[in-house]
Amino acid sequence: MVDLDKIISLCKRRGFIFQGSEQYGGLQGTWDYGPLGVELKNNVKKAWWRYNVYERDDMEGLDSSILLNRLVLKYSGHEATFSDPMVDCRKCKKRFRADQVDPNEKCSEGGTHDLTEPRPFNLMFKTTYGPVADENNIAYLRPETAQGIFINFKNVLDSTNRKLPFGIAQIGKSFRNEITPKNFIFRVREFEQMEIEYFVMPGEDEKCHQEWVEARKNWYIRYGIKPENIRLYNQKKEELAHYAKATVDIHYRFFPDRPEEDKQFDEVEGVANRTDFDLSCHTKGGKLVLADGREFPNTDATNKLTYFDPKTNQHLLPYVIEPSCGVDRATLAFMMDAYCEEEVKEGDTRVVLKLHPALAPIKVAVLPLKKNNEDIKATAHKIKKILLGSGFRTVYDDTAGIGKLYRRQDEVGTPFCVTVDFQTLEDQTVTVRDRDTMAQERVAIDDLKDYVAKRIGHND
Ligand code: ATP
Repeated sequence: MVDLDKIISLCKRRGFIFQGSEQYGGLQGTWDYGPLGVELKNNVKKAWWRYNVYERDDMEGLDSSILLNRLVLKYSGHEATFSDPMVDCRKCKKRFRADQVDPNEKCSEGGTHDLTEPRPFNLMFKTTYGPVADENNIAYLRPETAQGIFINFKNVLDSTNRKLPFGIAQIGKSFRNEITPKNFIFRVREFEQMEIEYFVMPGEDEKCHQEWVEARKNWYIRYGIKPENIRLYNQKKEELAHYAKATVDIHYRFFPDRPEEDKQFDEVEGVANRTDFDLSCHTKGGKLVLADGREFPNTDATNKLTYFDPKTNQHLLPYVIEPSCGVDRATLAFMMDAYCEEEVKEGDTRVVLKLHPALAPIKVAVLPLKKNNEDIKATAHKIKKILLGSGFRTVYDDTAGIGKLYRRQDEVGTPFCVTVDFQTLEDQTVTVRDRDTMAQERVAIDDLKDYVAKRIGHND
């Protein structure tokens, strides 16, 4: 299986992902998605939205603000507890996350690190809003999209007349001042999340949690991840957040080059049963209870976040199942799983990204066999327009010989290349080359739309 280094090099070479602020030496923990990366990431998000919102009858969407009133993060518990344990090396002055540093690691100043006791480091990015930058105007960049969903629970409920169970889905940026961003887009300071808060009657939560774990695992498989590269990890009692009844993490084989198989896997998504913790914190008159027993009665919220159950005529706080997926980690997993190096003939290897067609940045490349023939070129442009009209991202390319153009498209995962040649001018047919099999077929221009649609499937 491909390792991270090869993916990083492909990403830079072919314009998927560049280092953030590279022009000025970079900004650690930020990455910019290039021409192909933005398409791939958008397609991952579309595939998630389609599967989790459009294909179900019990989901609504939301796009809430990144900047949050400080009180949201006070009552969610983030101000008090959203921290990682940090240690310093007294010799080289570097900082590490306590649970990620090996105390026997070599220090650049000689010997091994001389580490301080761990102390909590809050991961939230603080800023001020408005023209006066003081303590009264503090806001946070959200560290997860979830809080925007909880505080809008009542708005969505009242405006849609939903009955339990139902869920709210959201995709958007989150920010965490990670102590040590690393492993490319795996751990960064600015990232995107795709999160669902699914509200259920207390008592139905455990079954529903299991169903979401299955559904979420199946999403990765449907869009091309090999089952052997996915694992479910049940958090142990001592690992669970104090309010969580159960959490199952979905792990992907991000680090195949690590010798111990268990260490090859790491989290792409967490699916948690959060009980009624979040709605209790944010509801008017509710309270936040921390793991150490401290309590913060909510004296600031303006609305009750309760649900009226018509069966019992009672107001209650629903339980919440939360599947929370990282867009960047999912995008990386889809790329890693799709990457292949194949020997075409002796001494001739091709790199091919066997991406699911719905995820492929480009669906069809139209390639004129002769770039100095005006009729061939005009026909190729016409075909591009026809395919684009059906919603397929199609590109025209005449910047190299046909062999080279095929290889370029293989490397970025384009499922089909359409070649326009002299025969096209005579009989209105083109050659369609399949990315995975490299088989070529002659297809009439009139049938091309249906041909591609049949093989690519849905395209929204
Ligand atoms: P980790 O233990 O790896 O720090 P987490 O358990 O804190 O992750 P969650 O708070 O559960 O992560 O966030 C849900 C998802 O958001 C994660 O499964 C991951 O895909 C993504 N995510 C979280 N932090 C980052 C980050 N710093 N960079 C990229 N993706 C992230």
